[in-house]
Amino acid sequence: MHDPAELRSLHQARFGVEPAIFVAPGRVNLIGEHTDYAEGFVMPAAIDFATLAGISPRTDGKVVIYSENYQEERVFDTDALPKMHSRHWSDYPLGVMAILAGEGHTIPPLSLSIWGDVPLGSGLSSSAAIEVATMLAVGSLAGASYPGPVLARLCQRAENEFVGANAGIMDQFISANGKKDHALLLDCRDLSYKLAPIPPDVELVIANTMVKHAVTGGEYATRRAEVEAACAVIARHRPEVKFLRDATLDDLARWGGEMTPEALKRGRHIISESLRTVAAADALLRNDRKELGRLMAEAHWSYSRDFEASCIEADVMVEQAQDLPGLIGARLTGGGFGGCTVNLVEAIHAAEFRARLAERYEAKIGIKPEIHLCHASEGARKL
Ligand code: ADP
Ligand code: MG
Repeated sequence: MHDPAELRSLHQARFGVEPAIFVAPGRVNLIGEHTDYAEGFVMPAAIDFATLAGISPRTDGKVVIYSENYQEERVFDTDALPKMHSRHWSDYPLGVMAILAGEGHTIPPLSLSIWGDVPLGSGLSSSAAIEVATMLAVGSLAGASYPGPVLARLCQRAENEFVGANAGIMDQFISANGKKDHALLLDCRDLSYKLAPIPPDVELVIANTMVKHAVTGGEYATRRAEVEAACAVIARHRPEVKFLRDATLDDLARWGGEMTPEALKRGRHIISESLRTVAAADALLRNDRKELGRLMAEAHWSYSRDFEASCIEADVMVEQAQDLPGLIGARLTGGGFGGCTVNLVEAIHAAEFRARLAERYEAKIGIKPEIHLCHASEGARKL
């Protein structure tokens, strides 16, 4: 996380007022990919990369938003805040304000400065971090305070309805509700959750492939449509199946022949992934590292072969980790088509693991990866 004292002096220098400071972490998903919108299970952890939001009131009727990452300031009139996205980074904080306004809160004139070290667009959810940090910051001035799960839902709505990204609840939920040294098994149906401790001698090694294949945007929507198509076929026979969460591998075996080959594969990934995620939480709770690693490997190849959301670079990053000392489990994390892999690694081997994985990846792919040693961190809060 960046030093809050630095954001404080930056805000002070720009706006001439001492800010209140809030922080919201990025996240890494240990297992459970694309299962959130099928109302299944996911198991993310908040990480020590985070976004800071500094906020102070103004008296001139303006909402001024500054991002230190983009070194750019945007100014709006409080009574004419945008109601729609403009495909600009400010969509994220403005979306949060639009949702707050929709909930009946008046957005007061304010100065908001944002500064984060969550790598942007790498699958570690800088978007949820900026939304959740903004929600806490603006909420503190607007008199809006919500329990974590509600706050997460409102931030998800900002991303869905204002930014226009059709993502599930996982990212905002873990950013708002993460717990230091724990992963969180989330039931995306009712938002109930269970914490599973990450043993102190295990590190989260996050390896950035440094590629993000341009297929995304549209691919996310296509995958989602295929998942829904698989569900619709099963629902014809079992009307109580509203989401793939309600379906079983048996259902697929019986009625998969009525699906397109793509829908069948996507469905198989989602149904098996949700089961694996619950089993992985169990394995983590029992500290059964072998089983956890097996489930992560299975999850990766299901994501790669059935969901077809991996890429050569991510497959290589996972393959090259397999026989390195200390590896417990490795898989591609996040929305897919590039971004980062998550590796659970025994702490005493982590530094060497990082060096050797970087060497191997560069030798095969010709790109120097960024590899971070992270820890499960606390969710969003006021500093
Ligand atoms: P991810 O969530 O995986 O990082 P997204 O594409 O969902 O990727 O979100 C990244 C976008 O969020 C950035 O392109 C930018 O518009 C916005 N964003 C995130 N962090 C910041 C920040 N610190 N300042 C300004 N915009 C940010
Ligand atoms: Mg995002």
